[in-house]
Amino acid sequence: MVQTGSRRSGFQSLLRAFDLIFQDFQPIAAIATTPIGANQLLKFAQIDGITLWLPNSLLSNSPALNAQWSVFHTYTGSLKNHLATLWNTHRSLVFCLATGAVVRLIAPLLEDKASDPAVVVIDETGQFVLSLCGGHQAGADQLARLIALQLGATPVLTGSANRAALPGIDVLGVPFGWQKGEGDWTGVSAAIARHAPVQIIQEAGSTLWQKHLPDGHPFQFPATGNRQPATGNPESPQARVWITPFTQLPTSPRPQALTPSHPIPEACWHPRVLWVGIGCERGTSKTLIQQAVQQVFQAHHLSQRAIAGVATIDLKADEMGLVEFCHEHHWPLRCFPAEALRTVPVPNPSAIVEAEVGTPSVAEAAALLGATQVSALDAQSEQPAEVSLPVPKHIIRQAGEAGAVTIAVAQAQQEYTGRTGKLWLVGIGPGQLDQITPAVQTAIAQADAVIGYSLYIDLVKPLLRPGQIVEALPITQERQRAERAIALADWGLAVAVISSGDCGIYGMAGLVLEQLHIQGWDGHTPEVQVFPGITALQAAASRVGAPLMHDFCAISLSDLLTPWEVIEKRLIAAAQADFVVALYNPKSQTRTHQIETAQQIFLKYRDRKTPVAIVRSAYRPDEQVTITTLAEFLQFPIDMLTLVLIGNQSSRTHTRWVITPRGYLGFDAE
Ligand code: SAH
Repeated sequence: MVQTGSRRSGFQSLLRAFDLIFQDFQPIAAIATTPIGANQLLKFAQIDGITLWLPNSLLSNSPALNAQWSVFHTYTGSLKNHLATLWNTHRSLVFCLATGAVVRLIAPLLEDKASDPAVVVIDETGQFVLSLCGGHQAGADQLARLIALQLGATPVLTGSANRAALPGIDVLGVPFGWQKGEGDWTGVSAAIARHAPVQIIQEAGSTLWQKHLPDGHPFQFPATGNRQPATGNPESPQARVWITPFTQLPTSPRPQALTPSHPIPEACWHPRVLWVGIGCERGTSKTLIQQAVQQVFQAHHLSQRAIAGVATIDLKADEMGLVEFCHEHHWPLRCFPAEALRTVPVPNPSAIVEAEVGTPSVAEAAALLGATQVSALDAQSEQPAEVSLPVPKHIIRQAGEAGAVTIAVAQAQQEYTGRTGKLWLVGIGPGQLDQITPAVQTAIAQADAVIGYSLYIDLVKPLLRPGQIVEALPITQERQRAERAIALADWGLAVAVISSGDCGIYGMAGLVLEQLHIQGWDGHTPEVQVFPGITALQAAASRVGAPLMHDFCAISLSDLLTPWEVIEKRLIAAAQADFVVALYNPKSQTRTHQIETAQQIFLKYRDRKTPVAIVRSAYRPDEQVTITTLAEFLQFPIDMLTLVLIGNQSSRTHTRWVITPRGYLGFDAE
């Protein structure tokens, strides 16, 4: 049965774009106490995972708002008491209220920046969006930016990382699924705020972020083997950040080589690179598995926060204790058949194990295989993925606990992000910021990575934020751009792929979806969202009036991927059928005859005086608009930045305007 969407369901699916963009901030509670404030909040009603709150008294006294009743939730009693119930259950709180009032309301609830929600304040006129609290870790700065883009408001961000145009050190690893470890995060952040040199020692995880730092950043990256740079000179680091699977800091013993010699604030991130290979006897308890892992990690100074997942033999896929252990920690359990495990060379094979399960190693081989799973990113890299086995197998039993556990730990080259990637296919319109839809602006601002042709990346520069991975590729490498975007999304990032105009009209949306189709995409992972943009034919038409008022079509004259005979057939059909025609890709340096043939075809069916508009670089600083006729238009410069619009038999010009009447009965009065 085909279901025709009700207004409500159509509305919801239309606005799903916002759901994905705001996902990292949900659940969100938004609160207003005045009718004006409530009106501002109405603009966010469509975001899934947001609840809008008003005092009951306001709703009952305001008939206009009452009409929107279904959108709002109401509370009775004081906002102070109500807020206490929202505080621990929401990731973000958005107030449309005086900042002073908000400060007083949240003051008794504030505990710790690691656990407090993001607090954002919108002024009642909707001109400013203030990130009040939880700027970095809770994401209030970014939420304020996104809300400001929706409202056309100015975000007010006062954190020091914004001044330095740097990614916040305490959120740096979030896109890659890194876990925040121990350390003096406040001290490290303070050093960065002073723009003091900060040493980064990265022993694991992706270094992609390092390539996208702004000029003049304060980070020092000591060469491998040179971990302790000279101290006491102005260049000596004032703080240190470890990016490592090891536990850190003087409180926990670490290998001698990694012991810092200089008492400066330190903190560490743990990329999830460790795969724990586990073999166990049938019926081994979760407690024993848990204790065994803890024991092994402590003994080797490894952090459990660096665990990517657990690997074992497929016979253990239903082993209760193991399944529960993984479930509790949200770790994936990768199971391999004996035939796969037996092919892995291991340091400690066992004939007994081989006799029992058909492979001489479970723990070591599974750990290594788990860590070797080649991701699309590894596949793109020229280096083969390196896997090491920092912990060979240990067998652990314990009095009073059933069973026995064998544990080995392998380290993958690439971290497991544990995130579902997203591909946001966006069209940025013809080339001026205010021609980009707010939804696209928000998607670009929120993406972890932005990929596009360098000219388009330049156009959206004001929307980019510190810490984003921005990859500009030459115009010719469209397929590579699509593959790269998919690889980054497969890895877990939210990737915005930029096209000019509309991304689905001779743009990247088709390429990315085609490529996903070839790769056997399941339609869900990565999540795909297509965001429309103003295409060149609309942009060009708007510069000359209303040439598209009647039926029209778009034809690309590029015969690089389409045989010329097909294009010619369409030109003839469009000319015969009297469509207004927009010619995309009309002429390049090497492709010059196509536009001439197009003119000859149209001259057969239309008057020589038919209006033709030649629009070059619409809405860009070097825009040129020419209005001419079918007989004469080839006298004017035409290139790949140009769109040619050919009117129908009733199109006409009036001073510098082209008008196509609504019908064929001549201009009517309405
Ligand atoms: N996805 C784009 C089209 C890409 S094909 C869109 O929807 O607009 C590239 C062609 O689009 C160019 O050769 C030119 O014909 C046209 N084009 C793109 N931007 C343009 C602009 N700002 N002004 C005029 N033509 C433009």
